[in-house]
Amino acid sequence: MFDVAIIGAGAAGLFCAATATKRGRRVVLLDHAAEPGAKILISGGGRCNFTNLDVRPENFISKNPHFCKSALAGFSQHDFIAMVAARGIAYHEKRLGQLFCDGSAREILAMLMEDCTSAGVEMQLGRRTSDISKADSFRIETDTGMVEASAVVLATGGLSIPKMGATGFAYEMAKKFGLAITETRPGLVPLVFAGEEQTWMQGLSGVSFETVASCGKAAFRENALFTHRGLSGPAVLQVSSYWREGKGIRLDLLPEQNAYEFLLERKAARPRAELKTVLSEILPARLAHALVPLANHVIGDMPNKALKNTAELINNFALHPSGSEGFAKAEVTCGGVDTAGLSSKTMESRAVKGLYVIGEAVDVTGWLGGYNFQWAWSSAWAAGMAI
Ligand SMILES: Cc1cc2nc3c(=O)[nH]c(=O)nc-3n(C[C@H](O)[C@H](O)[C@H](O)COP(=O)(O)OP(=O)(O)OC[C@H]3O[C@@H](n4cnc5c(N)ncnc54)[C@H](O)[C@@H]3O)c2cc1C
Repeated sequence: MFDVAIIGAGAAGLFCAATATKRGRRVVLLDHAAEPGAKILISGGGRCNFTNLDVRPENFISKNPHFCKSALAGFSQHDFIAMVAARGIAYHEKRLGQLFCDGSAREILAMLMEDCTSAGVEMQLGRRTSDISKADSFRIETDTGMVEASAVVLATGGLSIPKMGATGFAYEMAKKFGLAITETRPGLVPLVFAGEEQTWMQGLSGVSFETVASCGKAAFRENALFTHRGLSGPAVLQVSSYWREGKGIRLDLLPEQNAYEFLLERKAARPRAELKTVLSEILPARLAHALVPLANHVIGDMPNKALKNTAELINNFALHPSGSEGFAKAEVTCGGVDTAGLSSKTMESRAVKGLYVIGEAVDVTGWLGGYNFQWAWSSAWAAGMAI
């Protein structure tokens, strides 16, 4: 009999277990994987983008955009940075406030594991949880017998990368206990294209460029990359979390510059230059050539209307994704356990006392840039301090 059973030894589960155990709770942490924190290890290209210097509620997507506020304020990026610094883990800001380990993501996992071990968390790995029921206490069925606990924390994450052990367990159990689930979709995922758009992009596979990618009102200035199936890179991953089937996306290939004014200026200055050559001054040459495939135009001979059309392509390039690379390639799952059924202060179910949901399983999805781990730490802390 434990005070708390935490299902899932990922970022959120590990941090919650250490937090609750330090407060004197008897905690068992269960995971079906043989090793904890698999996603921490592969995150940030092996260097773990563990948080961001600038974390705001606006960096998160949720049916209720206010839900994340209390947890993010209760345990902020500065609190996690202080933990990292206190352990002597060296880190650096890569760009846009994103903090990465200088060495390896292993250091973040080691820190969490040391905290769990020194506090006395009972870690049971390689143990799959199949069901949870509640009488006076919670009964957690596993493939090697039953565990009983006064409280349960669902920390099994989302559906992204099933190959790494992702399951919909948190959603199944949440539903069983009467919590609603918002639509789940792959997020931070490469977008794919069909037909002519795909054929066109295939020829550009490997070309990267600076852009402002937008979908509806969401816009991100970052790099993007053509792949053999479509588009990837940070700017596109960011808009993918806002994209829906049937919607278009737009790329500004010359951020913060008016392409028409640029072309007019070049027409005046270099009238004998070919349009392709002029475009290669501002875009990767392969992209410049692909944008005007048939044009052998000399810029000085082109009417301004034609230059305007070319400029429109550059500043406002409309594309129509046919889909995404799906959960197999998605960094996160958008949607999840509906926050309407949870306390924003503790992550406890409003209806079922003692049932908590934390981390990616909750309908709170961060932007690319360390926000998803920050949500894991903040929501884990909120539950760990309340249990
Ligand atoms: C390739 C990649 C790179 C990423 N890089 C970053 C980054 O740099 N920065 C960032 O902020 N975010 C990053 N993310 C997102 C981040 O990893 C997740 O948001 C975060 O790990 C979520 O933490 P979690 O604890 O909620 O879930 P997870 O870390 O997914 O942990 C869930 C745990 O539950 C276990 N589990 C599942 N089902 C069961 C079951 N039935 N019984 C027992 N155990 C179960 C799993 O084995 C797993 O250990 C990345 C994601 C991917 C895929």
